[in-house]
Amino acid sequence: MLRHKKHVEFSWVKAHIGIYGNELADVAAEYATRREAVDQVLGIPKSWLQYILKQDTLLKWQKRWESSPKSRFLYGLMSTVSTKRCYGDFFLNQILTTHGCFPQHQHKFFGKSPSCICGTDFGTVSHYIFGCSRYHFIRSRFFPLSFSSMSILELVNHHSA
Ligand SMILES: [Zn+2]
Repeated sequence: MLRHKKHVEFSWVKAHIGIYGNELADVAAEYATRREAVDQVLGIPKSWLQYILKQDTLLKWQKRWESSPKSRFLYGLMSTVSTKRCYGDFFLNQILTTHGCFPQHQHKFFGKSPSCICGTDFGTVSHYIFGCSRYHFIRSRFFPLSFSSMSILELVNHHSA
């Protein structure tokens, strides 16, 4: 089947009982588990199939990521999807997703004031990282000297390194 079909879709079905094709597949699968040897060769390596499925999944994920109206701040930082990137830090994830104690986020979901307590700007991730006077000491102590010329993603990666 894989040799003749270019596009194969997998889908979950609630139950196979009563669906003729699924009943046949169930009987065939059960029979196959009792056989000593495998007599069906696909003619394609398993690794190739895994590669094609991974590429297809990444392509669909990328298209979905590009067209989604959600998480546009993160999209601005990371426009390309990747399975090799993982940030497990609670605080970094709040920065990357903007889903943290930032007033602008709190305003969006809880109706609180979107302004920073310093009163000079909105309480956004960018304001806290680059502009808020209340965090000058933290920036001078923990951020690299050239932080003002770095992007948020560069700072996150600098921190994670
Ligand atoms: Zn501020």
